[in-house]
Amino acid sequence: MLRNSLQHYGLEHSAEAIEASAASVLNFLITFLDEHLLPDLHESEWDVDADVDRVRDGLADIQGFVRKRMNEIKNALARQPEFTIQCTTCQKQACIIGRPEARCLFCTQRMDSDNAAIGHVHVTLQRPFRQIPTTSDIFSQPAQPAVDRCQSCGQRAWVVGAVTTAEPTGIDLCFHCAQTSAGSAPKH
Ligand SMILES: [Zn+2]
Ligand SMILES: [Zn+2]
Repeated sequence: MLRNSLQHYGLEHSAEAIEASAASVLNFLITFLDEHLLPDLHESEWDVDADVDRVRDGLADIQGFVRKRMNEIKNALARQPEFTIQCTTCQKQACIIGRPEARCLFCTQRMDSDNAAIGHVHVTLQRPFRQIPTTSDIFSQPAQPAVDRCQSCGQRAWVVGAVTTAEPTGIDLCFHCAQTSAGSAPKH
């Protein structure tokens, strides 16, 4: 699983996305080593401290990178909290929706507004695909992403209960034209 996702990131995503993901994995590993593995290993012959220290050094470097990067984009994110969602690639709350594409300020991943909406409902909100009622005895209908067509711009990018920095409890929002359920499209 981990290896697959790292290969995936290696092929598809920026160095920044890999570093953010690696930092999370290393955070978990170092805690696991400390709490579960090292106490047992210390009773054996194998001296692991030097190796573990190297991992800690690497982790500090990456955490330093993440802090630095988040600091660099902090002001840009603060200007548009109503358009900021969690990035489905690096998991940082740093992806700005908009047309023609959404862009993560942290890892630089870009995707068109329709795919950003689909990613948000499935990866971030973890909603299942919709089963479409079948109209045939032979073929079943393919399941559809839980994204609706926007009444305002016509794009299939309307997300019910989207989670943004400004609306952490959820707002109905078009990922293409930024229309909201309140009725007005805020200036983007
Ligand atoms: Zn990202
Ligand atoms: Zn729209």
